[in-house]
Amino acid sequence: MQSLTDIRNLLEARGLKPLKQFGQNFLHDQNQIHRLIEAAGVGPGDRVLEIGPGTGALTEALLDAGAEVVACEIDMGLSDLVAERFEDRVQLVRGDCLETGRSLSRNVVEALGDKPWSLVANLPYQVASPVMIDLLMHHPRCHGQFVTIQKEVADRLLSPPGNKTRGPLGILASTFGSIERIGVIPPTCFWPQPKVVSAMVALKPLELEQEIDRQAFARFVTMLFSSRRKQLGRILGRDRELPVGIDPSWRPDVLTNEQLMALFNQEEGPRRL
Ligand code: SAM
Repeated sequence: MQSLTDIRNLLEARGLKPLKQFGQNFLHDQNQIHRLIEAAGVGPGDRVLEIGPGTGALTEALLDAGAEVVACEIDMGLSDLVAERFEDRVQLVRGDCLETGRSLSRNVVEALGDKPWSLVANLPYQVASPVMIDLLMHHPRCHGQFVTIQKEVADRLLSPPGNKTRGPLGILASTFGSIERIGVIPPTCFWPQPKVVSAMVALKPLELEQEIDRQAFARFVTMLFSSRRKQLGRILGRDRELPVGIDPSWRPDVLTNEQLMALFNQEEGPRRL
């Protein structure tokens, strides 16, 4: 178990300081760490990806629960710290967890291997949205994501139709997955304290009744929301007949997931795989 003093001492002993550019706000509240692990249901032999192990507070708790941990850390000083502390008990990938800013790095995918796995992490805020969407859309072996993120991102993930925070992130997450808020975490649980409130969420993949071209759906939703203030009739063409129940005077953010899917199918023709 790592206390706040332990975390400070571990960094100080190596001449390290929390770096803002890597979103280094260390979670030192043990209750919150265990809440995350419990929500993820981590047990002996489960493979877990931790993005950003930092000083290893969550890593240690995952190992105590019996998980096989693959950890990816971008900060070389912290990577050395993790390697020293856990040696071969953790499979460490040094470097950015993302390639081209939006796909899980090949080194991480390789380290995870063929077994199903889940993501359990206190995610750095810069990578939270791209990581979560990439895992949901392109990594069928990932059977759940249990993460701490900014509350504002959690609100967007959970945003219903008609809400001003509704957008592609929440629509893709709720079309291809089910999202649940585990809880809200105040800044005092972290060191240094972030300026914003955080939240823990669980995102689990859903099996669609009929598989679709997910990439094309994502492009369609992104295209609609790039003109979110325009009416559908203006975005899609005035003379186009829309599916039953959809009015051309509506703006994209009032559409339900089902209505978006109906529009997508009409727009793209028979795209089902
Ligand atoms: N897991 C630790 C905890 O719970 O206290 C640290 C979490 S801290 C919010 C985020 C961690 O992610 C830091 O260790 C940071 O260096 C690392 N990180 C930031 N960007 C990253 C990236 N693109 N790829 C891998 N690790 C990254």
